[in-house]
Amino acid sequence: MIKFVPEPHLLDSPRGRDWPRLGAPRTPGRAGAPANSADVVIVGAGPAGLAVASALWHHGVRDVVVLDRDGRPCGRFFDRIDRLGQRVLRSPYEHHPGVEGYRDCELLDFARLHWSRLTDVERREIRMAQAGHRSVVPVDVFEAYCDHLVTSHHVAERTWQASVREVLPTAEAVTVRANRFTVTAPHVVLCLGEERRSAPEAWWGGGTPPRGVSYWDDPVPARGSRRIVVGAGLTAAHLLTGSLEAGHEVHWVVRETEERYQCADVNSSFFRPEGRARFDGVDRSGRLELMGRHRRASIMFEFRPRLQQAEAEGRLVVHRGESVKEVGDGSGGVVCRLESGRLIEADSAVLALGTTPSIGGGLLPPDVVAERDGWPALDERTLGYTGAPRVSVVGAAAGLVLGPAARNIDGHRVATARVAASIAHSLRHERVPVVAGA
Ligand SMILES: Cc1cc2nc3c(=O)[nH]c(=O)nc-3n(C[C@H](O)[C@H](O)[C@H](O)COP(=O)(O)OP(=O)(O)OC[C@H]3O[C@@H](n4cnc5c(N)ncnc54)[C@H](O)[C@@H]3O)c2cc1C
Repeated sequence: MIKFVPEPHLLDSPRGRDWPRLGAPRTPGRAGAPANSADVVIVGAGPAGLAVASALWHHGVRDVVVLDRDGRPCGRFFDRIDRLGQRVLRSPYEHHPGVEGYRDCELLDFARLHWSRLTDVERREIRMAQAGHRSVVPVDVFEAYCDHLVTSHHVAERTWQASVREVLPTAEAVTVRANRFTVTAPHVVLCLGEERRSAPEAWWGGGTPPRGVSYWDDPVPARGSRRIVVGAGLTAAHLLTGSLEAGHEVHWVVRETEERYQCADVNSSFFRPEGRARFDGVDRSGRLELMGRHRRASIMFEFRPRLQQAEAEGRLVVHRGESVKEVGDGSGGVVCRLESGRLIEADSAVLALGTTPSIGGGLLPPDVVAERDGWPALDERTLGYTGAPRVSVVGAAAGLVLGPAARNIDGHRVATARVAASIAHSLRHERVPVVAGA
């Protein structure tokens, strides 16, 4: 059987080009504090928060306060991407972060508008997208499009830098306490994204990693030329290619017995309505099983030729079917003991162990989150917490309702359509007098 393998140069789009934009690139949020009440507070200004703010704008809901630790819309998303040296998105053009049902300039239209700035490879990907095939989106295009969304939906002027500490719902309103101020609103949407998954305590006793060991979203210590990468997903794939390009000799510890080169980090069928419908007809245990099976990391096809070539040349040593047992300081750097008893020594080790959805724990009262198996208790139709219907979620936290697509850009658009419509409807039909600081 002949297998289609996309060419690796799809991974190499130039980064940092200057795009004509409606507004300034990477517009920061506002300094100071917002008013102490609003119609809607959105916590988190990543792609999910941006989708919610833009959809509410289309619904005519303008009294919106967006709060984000970083303050810049999509700041954490692009910081993570740039730390990994990622030049193309993991999702195709059809996963555009715009608003469902409104004929805005979509991601694909935006890319076509800037045709003259694109490379031949990038232009070919646009033709693939137009023909309904899988395509690859340059990070440059995606970033400029996000700026376009921010500007055209007036999101930056509604965004404040703040770290939210508590979200306290009552029957009438929700109070959001941040580090510098408090805002009360009839509706709050949590768009908190995902935090990196920490190493098991057994590896080094928990807490700060040993010298020379770092996580994927931290700066990698510049030590020597031998590196260990632990993990089997796209983040690991980027770390591997970056390390190989920098001339490192790399050991890759991958738990699976074989690398899985899937085209998206979850099966693409889950992004289509019929894929999501597989989730609707299934009970809780069936959903947990599907989430377990389809959330497992995998690598884009495009990486295969590069990694296989590096392995053949001895620049990459792959420890397949191996798990890490312990990580520690060695005389010559980092020592990694595998379950098989094998020891690997290197100058540095980078851990890409996946991410965990932020489901509102630590912000909302525990009985509202009602966490079971890592998932909150949500209303299937509105994505509101069943114990606090005025607080809803968009993003990975909606995984047990929407399926694996919830954690990706396409899923944010689907979740947002439900959440924004339900909030706009409720604001139109039940004007609640909000008592600030209640
Ligand atoms: C390197 C990388 C590449 C990826 N590439 C793709 C891709 O190509 N396509 C795709 O579909 N998905 C991709 N993903 C998955 C991706 O994370 C999501 O699609 C997207 O970032 C999620 O958006 P979000 O808004 O839910 O989360 P985030 O982008 O993480 O945004 C959440 C925001 O909430 C803020 N926040 C959290 N808690 C608080 C608090 N208490 N107070 C204030 N602010 C808070 C965070 O600081 C952050 O800014 C990628 C993920 C990574 C890590």
